[in-house]
Amino acid sequence: MLRSHTCGELRAEHVGEEVTLVGWIDTIRDHGGLRFIDLRDRYGRTQVTLSPETVDGSELTSLRSEQVLQVTGRIQARPDGMKNPRLLTGEIEVIATVSTLVGDCPALPFDFAGGDLVNDELRFQYRFLDMRRPEVQRRFQLRSDLQHQLRNHLHEKGFIDLETPMLTKSTPEGARDFLVPSRLNPGELYALPQSPQIFKQLFMVAGFDRYMQIVRCFRDEDLRADRQPEFTQLDLEMACVEEDDVIEVLEGLMAHVVKALTGREVETPFRRISYDEALLKYSSDAPDLRSDLEIFELSDLAADLGFKVFSGAVEAGGAVRGVRVPGAGEWSRKQIESLEAIVKNQGAGGLAWMKRTEDGLAGPVARFCDGDAGTQLVERSGLQVGDLCYFVADRSKRVVINSLSFLRKELAQKLGHIQPDALEFCWVTEFPLFDEDETSGSPVPCHHPFTAPHPDDLDQLESSPLNVRARAYDLVLNGFEVGGGSIRIHQRDLQERVFEAIGLSPEEARSKFSFLLEALKYGAPPHGGIALGIDRLVMILAGDDSIREVIAFPKTQRGTCQLTGAPTHVSDQQLEEVGLRVADPAKPVTSQLSGDEAGEPTQQ
Ligand code: ASP
Repeated sequence: MLRSHTCGELRAEHVGEEVTLVGWIDTIRDHGGLRFIDLRDRYGRTQVTLSPETVDGSELTSLRSEQVLQVTGRIQARPDGMKNPRLLTGEIEVIATVSTLVGDCPALPFDFAGGDLVNDELRFQYRFLDMRRPEVQRRFQLRSDLQHQLRNHLHEKGFIDLETPMLTKSTPEGARDFLVPSRLNPGELYALPQSPQIFKQLFMVAGFDRYMQIVRCFRDEDLRADRQPEFTQLDLEMACVEEDDVIEVLEGLMAHVVKALTGREVETPFRRISYDEALLKYSSDAPDLRSDLEIFELSDLAADLGFKVFSGAVEAGGAVRGVRVPGAGEWSRKQIESLEAIVKNQGAGGLAWMKRTEDGLAGPVARFCDGDAGTQLVERSGLQVGDLCYFVADRSKRVVINSLSFLRKELAQKLGHIQPDALEFCWVTEFPLFDEDETSGSPVPCHHPFTAPHPDDLDQLESSPLNVRARAYDLVLNGFEVGGGSIRIHQRDLQERVFEAIGLSPEEARSKFSFLLEALKYGAPPHGGIALGIDRLVMILAGDDSIREVIAFPKTQRGTCQLTGAPTHVSDQQLEEVGLRVADPAKPVTSQLSGDEAGEPTQQ
């Protein structure tokens, strides 16, 4: 090794030893010819003293931050008063006798030592510099520790770590596929896996009854702060299980990793909330339980309240719901109404409100509360003296839910409910098996088409598929979906019925999923599993608000890589090899094909 110790290793007990360190120059302080350097590496910082009397003076002049320096010297105790108790190496310093510049560094593109940083663009363009910062290194240490703990715990529980292909056929999870052309099979393309879903089910058929993998997945969809086109999952599958068994393994796993990484106890079992209850009470299928704010239904009272805005919304098929804000009766009218913009952004017409003071009810909704319906409203809201209530009414239930979701988030922040280091886990269960496709109105899987329907709803699979519940569960932490899974279909005929329900003809189903349908014929045990989003989990544990921070080389919102510039054009030769031609992105593809290729009739 070019070093005898790391920069975080030396203590008082090493005084008198000769050592060699290699590290980046963190800071340089000049004291009349004497130079004090903090040399930094992944393990810490050590003070090195360079004096013209002990090292060649020419080495001392051109030193700059972030150069890599190798120094050899003797360890000396720092004089009293010069010790630094905040530094693990703060009792000693290295008196250098040899100093060699082993890696020069020009002026930096940004001052990365200075805490809060310049724009993200520059930071991710020079990610290798950004990642040198101790706080960034701590995130990646946490990430590595998390993966290590997940693996260890699962191995102890009898899980086997198996790999699945990256170049494969579409494994649908509701996103678009990333496609990879095949040189050896011109005109044919692989898909990168959206998840190892089908393969892990095949492992169950093969008899690997407890499978795990930490695996990269790819989904071509619009990006958000908590989404990236490629991401890492902890993927699990277990045979001979029901929902409770998977949930129990996951709760044990979460309690273990949180304890190992933060020393904190997580209480199990986690709360279970049905999808319907989550949407009503928290206006979200991933409720943030750090706040106890709850939403309540008022649609049934709307007709009797005499408030046209409410009754009109319900008559048109929409809803009216409210949320009580404890203690907010003190807010000024201006403060109260300032939150209206949040719901208007979601398409709601406005935000109605009412408060209860010592003198009774006040605010725009108060005058509708005289009769029975009003009394019921007040009772249902739980409105106490000093509280405020907000109401959202709209002819679209979706708009009401979205508006209250954003409003609840904002209120929770404002009321100080969102403690940054709280960890509130819960399960959301009983999802519908299908959503309604917005354009075609036909059923599309809520999770993926391999999720088992609830046995009590099987008879509705053909007649009213949208009423069928799924044997699916999501793991939610602090309002983020960190995992999702289900009990799977293990009977071939049921799988065929579900394919049919989503509009796949038997031929299409066979051409897409023949290998799964075949496998289900050959002795498939009942099975189920889950996948956890490692990036999101690390983001939450690290206290970050974007997964980009915990991914070494993330993509931008446009799916580009600031460091490498990917995606890029490739050479004509490469395209030719894989049998592809690239269309002009500015024109519709069909207009660039010859009539023949575009499927138009050709004239003989
Ligand atoms: N394959 C699912 C996903 O990636 C997880 C699962 O159902 O186990 O979201």
